[in-house]
Amino acid sequence: MDLTLTSPVQYVPRVGPRMATLLKRIGIETVYDLLTYVPFRYKDYSLVSPISRVQPGEIVTVVGTLEYIRAFITKNGKRLVMGRLRDESGAIDISWFNQMYLVKTLHTGDMLSASGKIDWFGQKIVLSSPEYEVLKTAGEEHTSLHTGRLVPVYPETEGLSSKWLRGRIAFVLEQCLPQVTDRIPETIRTKQNLLSLSEAIRIIHFPDSAETAARARERLAFDELFLLILRSRRQKHLWKTTLKAKALPISKTQLQRFVSLLPFTLTSDQNQAISEITSDMAHPVPMNRLLEGDVGAGKTVVAAAGMYAAFIHGDNSALLAPTQILAEQHAKTLQLILEKAHGIPVHLILGGTKKQGVHTFPKTPGVYVGTHALLSKDRKLPNFGCIVIDEQQRFGVAQRAALREHTHGNLVPHQLSMTATPIPRTIAQTAFGNLDMSVLHTMPSGRKTVKTWVVPKSKRESAYQWMKKELESTHSQAFIICPLIEESETLTSVKAATTEFAKLKDVFAPLRVGLLHGRMKAEEKTDTLTRMHDRHIDLLVATPVVEVGIDIPEATIMVIEASERFGLSQLHQLRGRVGRREKPSYCLLFTENESPEVLTRLKALESVHSGPELAELDLTLRGPGELFGTRQHGLPGFTVATLSDTVLVSRVQSAVTGLLEDDPELGRFPYLREWSRESKIDNIQS
Ligand code: ADP
Ligand code: MG
Repeated sequence: MDLTLTSPVQYVPRVGPRMATLLKRIGIETVYDLLTYVPFRYKDYSLVSPISRVQPGEIVTVVGTLEYIRAFITKNGKRLVMGRLRDESGAIDISWFNQMYLVKTLHTGDMLSASGKIDWFGQKIVLSSPEYEVLKTAGEEHTSLHTGRLVPVYPETEGLSSKWLRGRIAFVLEQCLPQVTDRIPETIRTKQNLLSLSEAIRIIHFPDSAETAARARERLAFDELFLLILRSRRQKHLWKTTLKAKALPISKTQLQRFVSLLPFTLTSDQNQAISEITSDMAHPVPMNRLLEGDVGAGKTVVAAAGMYAAFIHGDNSALLAPTQILAEQHAKTLQLILEKAHGIPVHLILGGTKKQGVHTFPKTPGVYVGTHALLSKDRKLPNFGCIVIDEQQRFGVAQRAALREHTHGNLVPHQLSMTATPIPRTIAQTAFGNLDMSVLHTMPSGRKTVKTWVVPKSKRESAYQWMKKELESTHSQAFIICPLIEESETLTSVKAATTEFAKLKDVFAPLRVGLLHGRMKAEEKTDTLTRMHDRHIDLLVATPVVEVGIDIPEATIMVIEASERFGLSQLHQLRGRVGRREKPSYCLLFTENESPEVLTRLKALESVHSGPELAELDLTLRGPGELFGTRQHGLPGFTVATLSDTVLVSRVQSAVTGLLEDDPELGRFPYLREWSRESKIDNIQS
C-alpha cells in the first residue's frame, strides 16, 4: 500500500500497532502528524574531527573503523561496553553504559560515525556513550541522521526515543514530503519571504545550520498563526453576515436618563464602552462583544446599560455568573441601578428547580441573574434580547449556546461577555479576533494602588506581627489565600486552608479568623461572606475560589501563601480585592521558594500595577495556558508559534487582512474557505 499523508502511522514500515499506540500518546496518528512532529532542540554534532585532534570536553563526531567491541561488568557492578575506533590519524576508546546489546549490533570492522562528548577515563580520553550509526562507506556521512550534523531531539515518551523517531521521520520525509501542499497563497509567501512548506518541514528535522532551522520554524509558526487568525476573522464575518438580531436602539435622552439615575459618575472608559455596546445593539446584527476590565473597574453597570436598552423595547435580559456569590453580587448592583431606579424587575435564580417546582415568570420584561442553574431544562425561561456572560471562560460552548436558544424565532440575542482577565494584545488579535472588544483601562476614582511586598520565609513572623498591629489600629480586614493545588479545588488545598486556619486563629487571637473554601455548602459560603462583609470576621483564610469579584470594602490586606504557584495576572486579580476605598492597602506575597527566577518574577508585582502589563509578562514567562487555564479558553494548541511573538503576529495579521480585502469570500482559495468553516458558528468563541 502506498503511504499518503493521511495514512495511519502504523502502516509506516517498522512502526506497527505497538509503536502506533505509543505514538498516539504524543498526538501522532497519521503520517502527516509524524512529518510535522517538531523537534524541541538540536544536538550540535556538526564538528567532525580527525581522531588525533579531539580534546577532552569537546562534543565531536568521529568516523572510523571499529577495531574491537566487548562487554564487561565493572568491579562496582556497572554494565559497560568498550570499543575502539580508528581513523587515519589515530584511535580512541569508546564506552557505553547499560547497553549490553551493542555487542550484538556492532561488529569489529564496521565503519562507524560516532558523536558525543570526549571525557577523561582514568588517564586516557574516551568518547563516552556516543550516538552512533553504521556507515556502508566512509563517504556516507552526508546522509547521516544521528551523527555528524545538527541532530533533532524530539519530545519523547517512554518507549519512544529520539533516535527511533528520527529514523521513521527520515523515512516518511523521503516517501511523502512531495505530497505536502502549501496552504499559504503564493503571493503571501513571496511577499513575506517564507520558505515553502515542504522545505520548512524537511529543514525543521534536518537543518544545515541554526539559521535555516530558525527560518523553518518561522514558516511553521506563520502557518499556525495564519490559520488561527484567518479562522477568527472568517467567523466574525460569518456571524455578521448570516445571523440576525432584533435591533434595540436607545435614544440619547433615554441613555441620559439611565446615566442620570446612577449613584456615581461614570468613568470615561465606562462611557465609551456603553456607547460601543448600545450602538452594536441598535443594529439588526447580534452583538458579540467582550468587555474586559480589572476587578472593580465597574463592568456590571456597563452591562446594565445594554439590559436597559433591551427593557425599553420590552425585552428580557439574562446575566450568567460563574458562581452563586457573584450572581448575588450582580443582582444586588442591578437591583439598585435598574430595579430601584427604573422599576425593571431583577430576578435572582439560584439552585435547582425541584424544590420550587417549574417556575413561571411574569410577562413583564425583566432581568434574570443566575448561575448555570439558570439553564436548567425544566425552567421555562422567557426570550432574551440581550444576554451577558460574566467570566465566560468558565462556561462551556454548550452552556452558552443553550442560553442563546431563548430567543425570538430565528433571531439571536445580543451577547456581551465580561472578563477580569487582561487579554494581551496578541491574543486579542488572534484567538479572540472574532470578538469586538471594549476595555475599561481605568478604575473608578478613589481606588489606591496596593503596596506590594514579596515576603520570604525569614520575614514571615514579623509580617504576622505587622499585620496584627495594622488590623487592630486601622480596624480593617484581611484575606489570606492558600493556593489551589490543582486545577479544581481538591481536598489537599481544602486541607491546606483548614490547617492554616487552625494555626492562624492562635497567631492572630483575639482577632476573629474565618474560613472559606469551595467544598463548603453554598449557604455556608454565603454566610461566611456575609459575616466578613458585616465585619464579624477580621481575617478570612480562603482558597482562591473566593471569587474574583467579591467586594469587601473594608479589606486592606491581602496575603497570598505559596504565591509562586500563581501566575502574575492571577496574583494581580487577587490583590485587586483590597484597596477598594480610601485606606492604604497592602498585598503580601509569601513564598518559601528561594530561587532567583521565582523571586524576580514575583517582585514584578511590587513595581507593576497594571493588569495588562502583567498579563504580557505572564505570557512571555509562562505562556498562555497560565492566563486562561489552558484549553478552556479555546486557545490553540500551538506547537511552534508563541503568542508572545508580537512581530510575527503583526506580520500574519497584515497578510490575512490583505488576503480578505482582496477576496473576502475566499472564492479563489476554496481550501482556505473550507478550513475556516470547519468550526460551526455555534462553536465559535463567543
Ligand atoms: P467589576 O468590573 O469587577 O465587575 P463592579 O461592576 O462589580 O466591578 O463594580 C465594582 C463597584 O464599583 C461596585 O460597587 C459599583 O457599584 C462601583 N462602581 C462602578 N462604576 C463606578 C464609578 N464610575 N464610580 C464609582 N463607583 C463605581
Ligand atoms: Mg464583576
